[in-house]
Amino acid sequence: MQTALSDFVRDTPEGREADEILRKCVHCGFCNATCPTYQLLGDELDGPRGRIYLIKQALEGHAVSAKTRLHLDRCLTCRSCETTCPSGVRYHRLLDIGREVIEERAPRPWHERLLRRLLRLVLPHSGRFAALLWLGRTVKPVLPQALQRKIPPRRAGGAWPAPGRNRTMLVLDGCVQPAIAPQINAASARVLDRLGISLQRVPGAACCGAVSHHLSAHDEGLAQMRRNIDAWWPALESGAEAIVITASACATMVKAYGELLRGDPKYAEKAARVSALTRDIAEVLANEELDPLRQSAASRPRVAFHSPCTLQHAERLVGVVEQILLRLGFALTPVADGHLCCGSAGTYSILQQTLSTQLLSNKLSCLQAGKPDVIATANIGCLAHLATEANVPVCHWIELVDPQSA
Ligand code: SF4
Ligand code: SF4
Repeated sequence: MQTALSDFVRDTPEGREADEILRKCVHCGFCNATCPTYQLLGDELDGPRGRIYLIKQALEGHAVSAKTRLHLDRCLTCRSCETTCPSGVRYHRLLDIGREVIEERAPRPWHERLLRRLLRLVLPHSGRFAALLWLGRTVKPVLPQALQRKIPPRRAGGAWPAPGRNRTMLVLDGCVQPAIAPQINAASARVLDRLGISLQRVPGAACCGAVSHHLSAHDEGLAQMRRNIDAWWPALESGAEAIVITASACATMVKAYGELLRGDPKYAEKAARVSALTRDIAEVLANEELDPLRQSAASRPRVAFHSPCTLQHAERLVGVVEQILLRLGFALTPVADGHLCCGSAGTYSILQQTLSTQLLSNKLSCLQAGKPDVIATANIGCLAHLATEANVPVCHWIELVDPQSA
């Protein structure tokens, strides 16, 4: 695709990166076929090819409007289009750059800015989110049914094994996961302990930065990334072999630290090392001997696995969790349209409720068609979103592997 970027962006690092991405796109439209929002809305501008065109126009200095912003807001950042694109167009980076420019040139009305600010003030801060969730659980009985379903029940984490194994890995607690589902990291610690690995929590490491980053508050997100690097660095220098992440969206973000901080002379090298040492919990188990984790056939439910977009389209770990579950003897039920998003997508389920609800309904139909006993997934956002309407329990797949969680 030919480009003629405008003066305001042409010679910036973002402008050069956007130009390179745009030039790779040959406008073939293959990506539209696997775009969830294009499938639902049928509008070229609600598919990747149309959004690429809108971003190109904005970067070339053409007028942008609230309508331009809306088409970009409706994008889930699911990256299904990247999996499909034969030209290797890095759509998500173009979207990051385009959203920031359009946000500046077509400012949002005050109520949208306020909501986004509130989300950034609460979600990345585990203490604030836990307090809000406590309040929600306290008043839950008097709330309307629709709101009640969105408030997850209290869960206990369970015992965390004592440290002392020969191998040590760090784990990211994250922001919302400790309050919604503390059992996920505790189950991971127990599972890895059986494989001879101590999982160590690191005080000071918190939100991966994804919430702020995806709401176009890039500097705020970068500050959270630097804070995590500072928190992990001493343990990495002392020999911890990996940073394990149990939410695929957070793993995707931490794996991008090296790229996002490459222009920061103080952090570039450390960020690259942190990204290189980051492992989704699925990658860790895939490379281990799993015999110590075998359970009796009677304790193994039939599982429908929902592969989060971040797991399959961003981390590119297609089929890895499924293989682990099959190696451990679980039966998987068939799931149609597994490449499509469930509609959770970070803050999307709050900011784009109509589309999110449609995607959730479609996804649950596919997941429940095979009559599973349980739905398993690999990301806290998908887990909480699916659980609001599912007819069967929804869990993280690592809970199935941990006998204490079963
Ligand atoms: S599939 Fe790739 S090259 Fe074709 S329109 Fe989509 S992004 Fe462009
Ligand atoms: S990221 Fe997902 S929603 Fe956005 S354009 Fe690509 S396929 Fe469509």
